Amino acid sequence: MSSFIYDALPMRVVFGSGSLARVAGEVERLGLKRALVLSTPARRELADRVAMLLGDRSAGVFDQARMHVPVTTADAAQAVGEELGADGWVATGGGSTIGLAKALALRGGLPVVAVPTTYAGSEMTPIWGLTQDGRKQTGRDRAVLPRAVVYDPDLTLTLPPSVSATSGLNAVAHAVEALYAPDVSPVIAAMAEQGVRDLAAALPVIVERPGDAAARAAGLQGAWLCGACLGATTMGLHHKLCHVLGGMLDLPHAETHAVVLPHVAAYNLPAAPSAAAALRRALATDDAAAALAGLGSRLGVPTGLRDLGVGEADLPRIADEVLTHPYSNPRPVTRPELEALLHAAWEGRT
Ligand code: NAD
Repeated sequence: MSSFIYDALPMRVVFGSGSLARVAGEVERLGLKRALVLSTPARRELADRVAMLLGDRSAGVFDQARMHVPVTTADAAQAVGEELGADGWVATGGGSTIGLAKALALRGGLPVVAVPTTYAGSEMTPIWGLTQDGRKQTGRDRAVLPRAVVYDPDLTLTLPPSVSATSGLNAVAHAVEALYAPDVSPVIAAMAEQGVRDLAAALPVIVERPGDAAARAAGLQGAWLCGACLGATTMGLHHKLCHVLGGMLDLPHAETHAVVLPHVAAYNLPAAPSAAAALRRALATDDAAAALAGLGSRLGVPTGLRDLGVGEADLPRIADEVLTHPYSNPRPVTRPELEALLHAAWEGRT
């Protein structure tokens, strides 16, 4: 990292237990008069609470957000927003709901306030996605970056241990790849190391005692830091592989990240000494890749792609797709090595 460019993304973060009460102030600060609250059907109760907190500044609730932002969902939300005269979006939920708000911001330029309830980190990135006919198109645009993010750890108390574990490892993966990204800088490296440290300490406690408020706060802080790293850098083999697996086989997002992470770490870290050193410090270990695998098994996450329903026969076409478009990675990816990595990830053998 002897030379770098650091191009900071604007971020306004309101963090802390009980900070949901500050969401109306954030909406007001942006000058919004009629914000539409977005959620998935499962998070409707939270969305109603947020709408109540917004009072006159709420245009209502749209509760049909879905994973991977189908274009039809964005169309429906946009239509409701136009009908109700919405002048902004308040996304309450995980990456699926925040993804919907970002797609809407991309289309109409209206500002987004995010209230995340998982550890996925989408609220910290300018990356948007929209899915049509089974293909997810993604891009980067600063217009989609939420103008304010309200992180209230109390909202994560209901996140089930299994979702917390996979979602947390999804966040850790952002930091791992940021540490060896071509555009890493000292600021991002420091955030990534601290994010991994926070999550690695918090996740085992959260899985054992989901109601532990201190662990929930540490986990969400780690998720913020890791999400910010994702937003600021170019991801490598791990994110490419998960994107291809998710897109071609319709796999669950966070679980796929949890399974793949130790395998890519074992492959890449020998070629990325400063990333490996940062992870050894964060994980208090001599072998970061083994520690990541150990963390996954301690958290009880699925260990093999076959546990997610991937067939062994699917692996060659996954490798084909991964090798089709070049992307940045600290270690060159050859077909035999990629096939070996995929096979080990499929079997769940580290
Ligand atoms: P999600 O939003 O679908 O939430 C996962 C599950 O957790 C859902 O069933 C949801 O109802 C439930 N849930 C959420 N919060 C809860 C809570 N507090 N209590 C109980 N249940 C709760 O998934 P996710 O893992 O947050 O995000 C995955 C999506 O986000 C994927 O589509 C992925 O591509 C996208 N993503 C995008 C970016 C980006 O930068 N654009 C970054 C990370 C993830």
